[in-house]
Amino acid sequence: MNRILVTGGAGFLGSHLCDRLIEQGHDVLCVDNFYTGGKHNVAHLVGHPRFELMRHDVTFPLYVEVDRIFNLACPASPVHYQYDPVQTTKTSVHGAINMLGLAKRLKARILQASTSEVYGDPEVHPQREDYWGRVNPIGIRSCYDEGKRCAETLFFDYWRQHNLDIKVVRIFNTYGPRMHPNDGRVVSNFIVQALKGEDITIYGDGSQTRSFCYVDDLVEAMQRMMDTEAGFTGPVNIGNPGEYSMLELAEKILSLVGGTSKLRFEPLPSDDPRQRQPDIALAKEKLGGWAPSVPLEEGLKRTIAYFRERLGMGKLAARVA
Ligand code: NAD
Ligand code: UDP
Ligand code: UDP
Repeated sequence: MNRILVTGGAGFLGSHLCDRLIEQGHDVLCVDNFYTGGKHNVAHLVGHPRFELMRHDVTFPLYVEVDRIFNLACPASPVHYQYDPVQTTKTSVHGAINMLGLAKRLKARILQASTSEVYGDPEVHPQREDYWGRVNPIGIRSCYDEGKRCAETLFFDYWRQHNLDIKVVRIFNTYGPRMHPNDGRVVSNFIVQALKGEDITIYGDGSQTRSFCYVDDLVEAMQRMMDTEAGFTGPVNIGNPGEYSMLELAEKILSLVGGTSKLRFEPLPSDDPRQRQPDIALAKEKLGGWAPSVPLEEGLKRTIAYFRERLGMGKLAARVA
């Protein structure tokens, strides 16, 4: 049993990670300022003797005693991270410095939730970890992309300079229950729109691609990474290599939800990456043969069921009402 700090633990990925850590018998300290996450995501854990929820902003120092740190605190959807871009950079950079300082004082292992956004709008396809990326430093996505790149730099400098035990994962688009219905990401947008019978908003011509990983597969890989031998730092890509255009995704979701929604084409936001697909050879090699196991259709069904309940359209909601 370890005492484990999860920053951003009340968010989408963080709350699933907290669930898994509690199931495994660890002591979990969930730190979150509830900027994009919420208490509802971890309400079922509150009161558990091994779970503690703390409201705290990681841009400020944090003095606690733990054995391991998962650093997930950061808004992740373009709509949310662009709402207050200065705060986004502060969260990535000051947050990383504080959590690295904490890890250094405690000699604790620390894992950074980095992102495929470090590759920007890539010229290399699929993306491997040794690709340095193509990121606009002054665009509307830069607060997130450059913030996350700087956080990686800090992790590797604390490793080189202070011999800190670091792990870095680069997460590709992940989806599943507990995504915020209004967070603006494509999977949640399309599902919510389809369920409400609203138009499906396709940005650009919908030919841009993404690869979608179900949350359970992601959490499994993140935990395996945390448990790799000392000295292995990553970065390691984690994602599902299945690649879909946004038009294909819209069709898939419409066929699963049914309903009457039409496609509506809207302008493509600037710097929107054209294509994205992880090369997961390194993850397979280093994470004990890990590979994603939940196919897109199955993961979408589970996510649709979640949003049905959340939007008050499910059988359970009807019974409660
Ligand atoms: P999310 O927005 O649901 O979760 C982020 C959590 O961090 C929220 O609970 C939020 O309140 C909290 N937070 C934000 N700023 C904070 C601060 N200053 N101090 C304390 N807490 C703060 O997003 P998510 O999808 O769960 O993403 C979690 C992490 O994984 C993020 O670091 C994100 O960059 C990374 N990531 C996610 C994806 C994905 O597809 N979901 C892809 C790549 C990387
Ligand atoms: N820090 C923290 N908790 C700790 C130790 C450090 O939040 O338990 C923060 C503190 O704000 C510090 C930062 O981490 O500024 C970086 O710490 P480090 O020891 O690397 O550098 P320094 O203290 O010299 O700034
Ligand atoms: N997208 C879209 N309609 C939406 C939301 C997003 O067509 O309602 C597109 C967006 O332009 C991008 C892709 O879907 O090309 C993935 O967007 P998301 O915000 O989920 O993630 P990211 O761009 O960070 O990968």
